[in-house]
Amino acid sequence: MPEGPEIRRDADLVASVLAGREVAVVSFAFAGLKPWERSLRDKRVVAVDTIGKHMLVRFEHGVRIYSHNQLYGRWFVRDRDDYPDTRRSLRLALHTEHHSALLYSASDIDVIQPHEFEQHPRIRGLGPDPLDTDLTLGACRARLGDRRFSGRSLAGLLLDQSFFAGLGNYLRSEILFRAGLYPMFRPRDCSAAQIATLARAVRDLPRRSYRTGGITNDARRVQALRRAGLSRSEYRFLVFGRDGQPCHDCGTPIQRMAAAGRRAYYCSVCQPQPDV
Ligand SMILES: [Zn+2]
Repeated sequence: MPEGPEIRRDADLVASVLAGREVAVVSFAFAGLKPWERSLRDKRVVAVDTIGKHMLVRFEHGVRIYSHNQLYGRWFVRDRDDYPDTRRSLRLALHTEHHSALLYSASDIDVIQPHEFEQHPRIRGLGPDPLDTDLTLGACRARLGDRRFSGRSLAGLLLDQSFFAGLGNYLRSEILFRAGLYPMFRPRDCSAAQIATLARAVRDLPRRSYRTGGITNDARRVQALRRAGLSRSEYRFLVFGRDGQPCHDCGTPIQRMAAAGRRAYYCSVCQPQPDV
């Protein structure tokens, strides 16, 4: 499933043709949303926002089109009425004078009125989004130290959208590696220094992934690995999907484990298990 950085990049793409423009035609596949087609026509899009993995096309009168791609949803941005050659089913089409923003295959689409927004079941309860530039390191640290979460494993917490919104399976492994923490650590097992390092990783790795188009490995190392002829899939991640390959930091083979029901990757030397 795409994680926050991938959805934010999709949102930028959609915004590149919609933001500041009037939508001439809106078309929904789902019958329940069709009554909105008329009232959104000729309305101007103000912005395309994201909160975690949720995208919101926001109109001048405050109404938002909500979408979540889940596993299958895919946006296309094209010249007006130039539909892609795909067998996917079109679920939402937004046409401006010159362009079309088309969402295929997504099943989770809604229209949210301003007064419904904060209590919308998909929105309320979401934790802070590390891609939100207003989110400070101090706020990340405070969240990691919040007693409501302190007894749960980091492996479970980092997938919980009410803890931080937008983190998913690859970011979880990458963040824990950069923080030097074994996935089953709980916040209450961590020292203040470890919480501080973890807060930095929670803030920085999604932002790096957003900037680089999905690369979480350190920029200098990526350059060196590229020069050495490695492929993107080989230099992209710190640990995710790299089981059996040497740790970039220490050379120990990366291990794979199941954590909170999903695969996680870690280095047994850089992320030692706590003494029991
Ligand atoms: Zn290592």
